[in-house]
Amino acid sequence: MIKKGTAFAGGVERRDVHEEETVKTGASGRKALVVVDMLNDFVRPGAPLEVPETRAILPALRRRIAKAHREGELVVYVCDSHRENDPEFARMGWPPHAVEGTPGAGVVASLAPEPGDVVVEKRTYSGFHGTTLHFILRRNGIKRLTLAGCVTNICILYTAADAAMRGYDATVDERFVAGLAPDAHAFALDQMEGVLGVRVVRRPVRSAPRH
Ligand SMILES: [Zn+2]
Repeated sequence: MIKKGTAFAGGVERRDVHEEETVKTGASGRKALVVVDMLNDFVRPGAPLEVPETRAILPALRRRIAKAHREGELVVYVCDSHRENDPEFARMGWPPHAVEGTPGAGVVASLAPEPGDVVVEKRTYSGFHGTTLHFILRRNGIKRLTLAGCVTNICILYTAADAAMRGYDATVDERFVAGLAPDAHAFALDQMEGVLGVRVVRRPVRSAPRH
């Protein structure tokens, strides 16, 4: 029997997922701050996937999280959580990192989630792929997201892409995202702004290198 919402065309089953996959209009107006991969294995000096720039954004991101709490934004931590032999390691060429249940997979202490915050574990670059993120955001009536954390051209970019496909209004403020390399960071911001419709807030041009 063919179920409602299911169509057959040339032997291929196509489910009509368009309606359930996008954010409903009439969302509550509540916003969410989505903090991506600010984990020990990315932030600590000498960590397996160390992104030194994450430590530069920590103070500003800490303040941004406090502001979110004050203003009633939902704070969602989206965190890599890999199996020991996760396909991502071999296929993408990354060293093992953020293996579930290890300290490296934990959010850095200075940004530790508070009661009422939500932690969503992911296995891929996207905070939406195979996770409950979309469900949680919709349940809270959220249409507007601010993405923060690392890495700008990987998990921020692919999470932004999936957010855009699902109808969210996303903002990325350069003060709260960390890249691995300046070129890739800049490319990702341009891509998000120019192609995905993300509102990108640029950091003022620095007069001197910070290191
Ligand atoms: Zn990973």
